[in-house]
Amino acid sequence: MSAVCPTPKKRSYLSKKAAFAGAATSGVALNPYLCQCGNWHLTMRTTVTEQYDEVEVQRILSLPVDDFVRLAFDETRHAVAPETAAALRAPSVIYRWGDALKVVLNSVQESLRAARGGPTDKRGQLARREQLVRTRLMEVKDLKREQNDVRLFESKANQERTKRRQGTAATAAINRLIELHLDEYRALLDEERQKLPSPPADSAEWME
Ligand SMILES: [Zn+2]
Repeated sequence: MSAVCPTPKKRSYLSKKAAFAGAATSGVALNPYLCQCGNWHLTMRTTVTEQYDEVEVQRILSLPVDDFVRLAFDETRHAVAPETAAALRAPSVIYRWGDALKVVLNSVQESLRAARGGPTDKRGQLARREQLVRTRLMEVKDLKREQNDVRLFESKANQERTKRRQGTAATAAINRLIELHLDEYRALLDEERQKLPSPPADSAEWME
């Protein structure tokens, strides 16, 4: 079952998106973070990083498909270890997590159809379960979008860096050329100066 919450007085959100919505209604700047209890809380700390353990990430990525789907299902019930919940949200896992959640959603919806006309409490339980899976799928969608934004930003920053480095290299090369051929450079510079149009007559002089 889910671990004990170290901050039970903090308000809990089921998804990062919900936590962001909560933060937006607050007067101060708050950042969502995934707690070990499996819920999202808000903090004023600005250094909130998504903590996932690379060993755990590799472990869940190496699971057989059925076990991974089972894991995704258990996570919707907060029935996995906090480090496993965090690992599902790692950039290298979110696509597989989304696929597994779709399988879970299909099976829950199948059970819902099968339970039609059956006991109300059973159907209510399945409907709640469906809602939890949908909440997770929305979170996956947000994480994918976030990841694409980060990629776009990084590739733009990379392009800028390359351009700057190339510009610096070109300038250095030109300066070295000039140094190597200083006399030629000065002669060419004189020639080019002569080609410039003569400056307009001083207007004050012209007025006299
Ligand atoms: Zn908590």
